[in-house]
Amino acid sequence: MGSAVSSGKHKTIYVEVDGEVQKVIFSNQSSSHVIRQLLCTSAGVPWQTPVMLMDQRGSVIATDTSIPANSISSPYRIIPQAVAPISDKEDFFQAMLSQVSEEFSRAFRISELKREVSERLTALERRVEVEGQKVVDIDKCKNELRILRDELQRSQSRLSCPCSCFQSQEVIRLSQRRDLPNYPKYTLSSETIEALKKPTFDVWYWEHNEMLSCLEFMYHDLGLVREFNMNPITLKRWLLCIQENYRTNPFHNFRHCFCVTQMMYGMIHLCGLKEQVSLLELGVLMTAAVCHDLDHPGYNNTYQINAHTELAIRYNDISPLENHHCAVAFQILAQPENNIFSNVSPDLFKQIRQSIIRLILATDMARHGDILEAFRQVISIFDFTNEEHVKTLQMMLIKCCDISNEVRPTEVAEPWVDCLLEEYFMQSDREKQEGLPVTPFMDRDKVTKPKAQIGFIKFVLIPMFETVMKLFPQIEEMMVRPLQEARDHYEELMQLEDSMSSGHQRKMEAVHSAGAKGKRSGETA
Ligand code: 5GP
Ligand code: MN
Repeated sequence: MGSAVSSGKHKTIYVEVDGEVQKVIFSNQSSSHVIRQLLCTSAGVPWQTPVMLMDQRGSVIATDTSIPANSISSPYRIIPQAVAPISDKEDFFQAMLSQVSEEFSRAFRISELKREVSERLTALERRVEVEGQKVVDIDKCKNELRILRDELQRSQSRLSCPCSCFQSQEVIRLSQRRDLPNYPKYTLSSETIEALKKPTFDVWYWEHNEMLSCLEFMYHDLGLVREFNMNPITLKRWLLCIQENYRTNPFHNFRHCFCVTQMMYGMIHLCGLKEQVSLLELGVLMTAAVCHDLDHPGYNNTYQINAHTELAIRYNDISPLENHHCAVAFQILAQPENNIFSNVSPDLFKQIRQSIIRLILATDMARHGDILEAFRQVISIFDFTNEEHVKTLQMMLIKCCDISNEVRPTEVAEPWVDCLLEEYFMQSDREKQEGLPVTPFMDRDKVTKPKAQIGFIKFVLIPMFETVMKLFPQIEEMMVRPLQEARDHYEELMQLEDSMSSGHQRKMEAVHSAGAKGKRSGETA
């Protein structure tokens, strides 16, 4: 047996590790230390482990460059020394250390858990104390549960996005899609296109996809796509995203958004605004209308403020809802794939943003008197080249469109009152349950359809539309007259209600007095 197979500067030996033969190559100049390290690596033991090399007959082989040659069929065996090497001790200490640190972190977690349990117990004790002073009203609990469940369902029916709003961590739906929006392309008939320009348009007839197509058409038709150099696909995606960010409230839903925008489109035509104001101003009007009630939670500012909701706290009780609608609008536009204004200059975008904010904030009815008064002040001297005048007019226009249901034909307008009352009643029920002040015009025990509408038409709608009529006399026939008719319609209904209730009362009195007479005659018999 000569020395290990030598090929020039290298030597090769064969070793057996776990039943497998391995080839170990080392340099002729390698120190025995290096060779032992190589053998350790082969054997899969730590580098510092003392190893012994044995041949097939059990003879120990020196681990230096003089290792005798062997063949693949008679490999050496590597035998790590039995004495615990320093590295093993290190491993052992490492294992001990990690075990100790694990124990520590477990103990820490347990103490955290204990703290949490103790905090919860304290809170429970406090509740028991409070509850002990009053009878627990099970029905109230059930109702609270129902409201919570409804709320949960509503929030689950929405997609997710990073903005929290309205008490629970509800989030806006921001689409992450760059693909083509999947609502079908409708070709609007010439009749539909004509009808779309009038307040008589039947807003109940259309499904969401069709309303989206109508809105898309309006942007193209007004020349806004061209003016703002909009990507037509972005316009589709934006509209879809807008629709997804309206909740399924009875009243403040996507159909209401459509109504307001369609009325704006109608007023632009009826008032000949294309000839009077710039496309920038028309774009702002239309976009503010589309966005004006985004993510409305179905409970108004009074509720938000009284219930100290997240929105009221965030906006310091100052138009919490309108501020929120606006914030959601710009969160949507902040997404490049949904930004219909991505091709305008930063300066122009700033201007568009300021105007949209101004218009959406103007829809807070708490500011109704002030805005109407400001507009009245400029009517007699109105100048379409005066920026301030146009700003005031824009605020009036969005306000008109926002509350314009009663301008529509009775069969279109009346179902909206049912929707509004349904939302009102949800709020007043909740206010009662939560011990908050109940908004009187929302109370199901006090309000009826005619009662809700007569005052609103007489004292809000007619005075406002008559004021706008001074600047645009052409709205009289299409907008003011239907309001007067609606007022008359509800006054008739009111009389009917009154006569029915007084008839009912007379009947009840008759029944009562007949019963009393019978009783008396019975007594005398
Ligand atoms: P919003 O911006 O909330 O859509 O409209 C402003 C508010 O005006 C509504 O929340 C609602 O209180 C009131 N409003 C709008 N339309 C009508 C209506 O036809 N009748 C009554 N009574 N109130 C209305
Ligand atoms: Mn609205």
